Amino acid sequence: MRILQTSANTYTSMPIVHRALLVSLTIITVGLAFFDPNEKGRYDFMDGLEVFLSSSDNPSFVLSPDSEFYDVLPYPAESEGGSPPITDFGKYEHIIQSGDTLSSVLNQYGVDLSDISKLTKNNKILSNMGIGQTLSWELDDNGGLKLLKWSVSKRETRTYELVGNQFEEVKDIIQGEWVEKTLQGEIQGSLSEAAKSIGLTKKEIAQMNRALSWQFNLKSLKKGDKLVAVVSRELIDGDLEQSQLLGVRINTDGKDYYALQAENGNFYDIKGYAPSQGFLRTPMSKSFKVSSHFNPRRLNPVTKRIAPHNGVDYAMPIGTPILAVGDGVVTHAKREGAAGNYIAIKHNGQYTTRYMHLKSLHVKPGQKVKRGQKIGLSGNTGRSTGPHLHYEIWINGKAVNPLKANLPRTESMSSSDKKAFENYVAPVKDKLIF
Ligand SMILES: [Zn+2]
Repeated sequence: MRILQTSANTYTSMPIVHRALLVSLTIITVGLAFFDPNEKGRYDFMDGLEVFLSSSDNPSFVLSPDSEFYDVLPYPAESEGGSPPITDFGKYEHIIQSGDTLSSVLNQYGVDLSDISKLTKNNKILSNMGIGQTLSWELDDNGGLKLLKWSVSKRETRTYELVGNQFEEVKDIIQGEWVEKTLQGEIQGSLSEAAKSIGLTKKEIAQMNRALSWQFNLKSLKKGDKLVAVVSRELIDGDLEQSQLLGVRINTDGKDYYALQAENGNFYDIKGYAPSQGFLRTPMSKSFKVSSHFNPRRLNPVTKRIAPHNGVDYAMPIGTPILAVGDGVVTHAKREGAAGNYIAIKHNGQYTTRYMHLKSLHVKPGQKVKRGQKIGLSGNTGRSTGPHLHYEIWINGKAVNPLKANLPRTESMSSSDKKAFENYVAPVKDKLIF
């Protein structure tokens, strides 16, 4: 009783990460791990231990050289700074290896098959055990299984306890310690390479690229351009468990571009616009050469007449996937004269986009589409001198240059939302300095 009290007192004064780790450990482990030589409780505990270990004539305490559990409890000195896999009499531990099944593991330590089937009956998930995970379990005085712990990961432990005649599952998710880091560097090759070299994870790089790509052409970055990012990482026992990009700033050509994560998890630029609501820069996922620019007074190469070229032409192989540049509703999807197979999408009232000379149409008039959705394949239909996509953006009934258009962002935030956003991102913004 006294030991538990001592442990509980120590527990509240431990750093978060330590405390978190201990949650899933057994009572015995807790007792040892919190061992403090200055605590009086130690002596009570040691006495109990000595008595326990000296009962070597206990017939059911079976050991084998290969067993995963310790034959004796380690002395407190050895347990300092770590939590060795301690097993007590009646407690067992096993690390899952290739070929192991729950019943083969338990059965080899003498657990009765009827207990195993009782356990698995309501807990089919146990068949998902993976190599390297740890199982520990306890037997009652009659050798019956009373409790099994499955350490799924450092983060997750599932405990199955015999209640009445069945095993009930309790899931424990451990919160690790979140650590904030500021990482910075210079562009040498691509932005992704620079991000990787300063230590951003794959996921963080993808978040960064998505959040910034609508603001400027990522490929236009030059050697020596600067990059700084703030990330938050969850560490459990010193290992990276998960990570999050909180903000990033790029400096190129004397300009700064930011992507800041707001409380809702979305990224916004410094003014609080949400890139995710904006348009894709091009209706393709790859970049292609512009074969003809937007030009209100162009000499048409086919008709030889001066006529406006209301869009931009991208040369591309027939069959290239064409994407809706923003959310909207399809107003046209049909074959029509010079346009060939074409699609028109109306976005949020002001904006319409049009896609011409397609090989095939994958949407129908009236259909709602999402930004980035494949709407068709490029082709060479209608009045066209070679495989290309003719792409138009219309704002309030007027064609604009798609390469220069002010692409739609999100609706402006209300002033109170903007204030909240600014307050939320301020601490991160303050760290994004070169
Ligand atoms: Zn064209």
